[in-house]
Amino acid sequence: MDDCIFCKIIKGEIPSYTVYEDDVVKAFLDISQVTPGHTLMVPKKHVQDIFSYDDELAQAVFARLPKVARAIKASNPEIKGMNILNNNGKVAYQSVFHSHIHLIPRYGNNDGFGMKFEDHSKQMTDEKYKEIQQAIVNQFK
Ligand code: 5GP
Ligand code: ZN
Repeated sequence: MDDCIFCKIIKGEIPSYTVYEDDVVKAFLDISQVTPGHTLMVPKKHVQDIFSYDDELAQAVFARLPKVARAIKASNPEIKGMNILNNNGKVAYQSVFHSHIHLIPRYGNNDGFGMKFEDHSKQMTDEKYKEIQQAIVNQFK
């Protein structure tokens, strides 16, 4: 796509600190560096978000995640863990609409990365869980 910043990075029209590249994906340092080593892995094929992948592309792209994650972790003994995130849609904090996976190395609890999971289980009932479950299960029919 002509006006896509990640397509331009893939084509080399915009420079990037590339850490891995093959025929399917490119992985490069995120400009923001939430933590040191924060990397984005993107499919070379322009797809907007997770909802646009077909099985073949998904298999090819996501199969490459562990080796990129391992390389980042092995690059610095201070890396203790890693958050792997994929934002889909503006509401989910997606700001670049070429699908990408964030690999965010973790050094400690106060290393610059934060995430909040609210527990709403007290507002749930067996009926509500089943209603949500069924609505999703129905999509596979
Ligand atoms: P999103 O918010 O869509 O999940 O993540 C987009 C990411 O792309 C952000 O973390 C942002 O820092 C990164 N980003 C935006 N423009 C550029 C760029 O030109 N080069 C690089 N390396 N990263 C970028
Ligand atoms: Zn693109």
